[in-house]
Amino acid sequence: MKIKKGDNVMVISGKDRGKTGAVERVLVDKEKVLIAGVAIAKHHLKPSKKDPQGGIVTMPTPIAVSNVMLVCPHCGKPVRIAQRVSATMKERICRKCQGNLDTKTQVTTKVKEKHVK
Ligand SMILES: [Zn+2]
Repeated sequence: MKIKKGDNVMVISGKDRGKTGAVERVLVDKEKVLIAGVAIAKHHLKPSKKDPQGGIVTMPTPIAVSNVMLVCPHCGKPVRIAQRVSATMKERICRKCQGNLDTKTQVTTKVKEKHVK
């Protein structure tokens, strides 16, 4: 999966084409993503004992990963992703500006703490 939680993505097909939002959840097995504020579906609930009025609940619908593109924080456009793999980490690179798309991820070296008495 090239898209990660927290990524800013743009929808490139479907009725929400052109909308952007942050990825709230990645459904890896279904290759879909939930995007905040995009593809909101209304569910009409029948009245039940718990909720005698019934009602309408709005929930984002998952969108196929192939229908979204990552918005590069450097050039501000939806871009294709290249991957650069090094011994320590996988980096996602913007194909337009070659900027690193994983500014948040850093190589975390595990340091064993020495307990000195
Ligand atoms: Zn870029």
